[in-house]
Amino acid sequence: RSYLERIAGHNPALNCLVTVCETEALQAAEQADSRIQAGETGQLLGIPIVHKDIFCTDGVKTSCGSRMLDNFIAPYDAHVVSLMKQAGAVMLGKANMDEFAMGSSNETSYYGPVHNPWKAGSVPGGSSGGSAAAVAARLCAAATGTDTGGSIRQPAAFCGITGLKPTYGRVSRYGMIAFASSLDQGGPMARSAEDAAILLQAMAGFDERDSTCAEQPVPDYLATLNDDLKGLRIGIPKEYFDDGLEGAIADSIQQALDEYRRLGAELVEISLPNSRLGVPTYYVVAPAECSSNLSRFDGVRYGYRCSDPRDLEDLYKRSRGEGFGAEVKRRIMIGTYALSAGYYDAYYLKAQKIRHLISDDFRAAFEQVDVIMGPTAPSTAFAIGEKADDPVTMYLSDIYTIAVNLAGLPGMSVPVRPVDGMPVGLQLIGNYFQEGRLLNVAHQLQ
Ligand code: GLN
Repeated sequence: RSYLERIAGHNPALNCLVTVCETEALQAAEQADSRIQAGETGQLLGIPIVHKDIFCTDGVKTSCGSRMLDNFIAPYDAHVVSLMKQAGAVMLGKANMDEFAMGSSNETSYYGPVHNPWKAGSVPGGSSGGSAAAVAARLCAAATGTDTGGSIRQPAAFCGITGLKPTYGRVSRYGMIAFASSLDQGGPMARSAEDAAILLQAMAGFDERDSTCAEQPVPDYLATLNDDLKGLRIGIPKEYFDDGLEGAIADSIQQALDEYRRLGAELVEISLPNSRLGVPTYYVVAPAECSSNLSRFDGVRYGYRCSDPRDLEDLYKRSRGEGFGAEVKRRIMIGTYALSAGYYDAYYLKAQKIRHLISDDFRAAFEQVDVIMGPTAPSTAFAIGEKADDPVTMYLSDIYTIAVNLAGLPGMSVPVRPVDGMPVGLQLIGNYFQEGRLLNVAHQLQ
């Protein structure tokens, strides 16, 4: 009830939730309460959370931030949603997001921008901006997000919370509306590494309904949170501290690195020579996959349908033309172009090759170090509207996060010293399935 009151008080200004499920939440809370009375002790029992509106929720609208799905009520739960439901979490509502998770500022949502709780008029980051703002403003205890090219980590950094993108395949994508299937990964957004560990514990694990889900055992993430960091080797990529990074942010990151040194870690300079190719590679691979994934929205099966179509072609064209926003259309056009005969080799195939080189850089680095650290984003939260007309500048706000998705590695953002009152995120990158290590390292800083 306390969280629902906070939502009623603050959501009108923040716009971070697009659906609030008051009756269902109170019912779920009562059920959790009876489970607690009966002696059950799960960590998530009765914990109020929100899901990014990209996760299908049985009987509750799942819009994906798009007019295309404004009328869509999924007849089933995403795997992550059902796991958290079983664990007794109480869903308060669904979080606003960039349309189909395409964006870095939450401005592409059909439901309007989300405001950063730290400063009205600033973006919360994206695409999981609603989730990040809701956690930061204490409208829920924790939230889910998804990260295709930084969408958990960058909004976590902009809103001063902790976000973790797991290894590709760690968390099932079943029921998570697809953007770029070889990159998409769901994960927790929380107030601390400890809370993120509790959430990940519930979300992770094999699911046969996602063919890319890994059959790896899930370790006890809470058990290793307090491992000491003596002898930990931290790789500092020199490419992450170039001219594109604001000086005051570099100072905050440096202060956190000094703290790690005090905790017994050793800092090692490393190089990720192909990291500068991350953004251009991503903007071929992700749109290519999105153009294929979004072909299912045809106005026939479900979702938006235009009124009075003249014929089938008119139905397709107008349903998609009216149902999708500008950024989604831009991605579909770029992707279709990159996959078309004559351009496939020049763009898509080349991007796939560079993707391998980027993974190889990380593989080589992890032979020398245990974790990699750097900034999550090159700036703090910018003003709503500041980059909206310049997609390339917007794309560059993911310059430090995108390579991690291309390589399929786990990455995390944790809050460090703010700059001018605005939050800054330190990014931690781990080797495959080293989420436990990342959570441990993050927890030691908090
Ligand atoms: N900002 C990136 C994009 O617009 C990443 C989005 C994401 O991770 N879902 O594609």
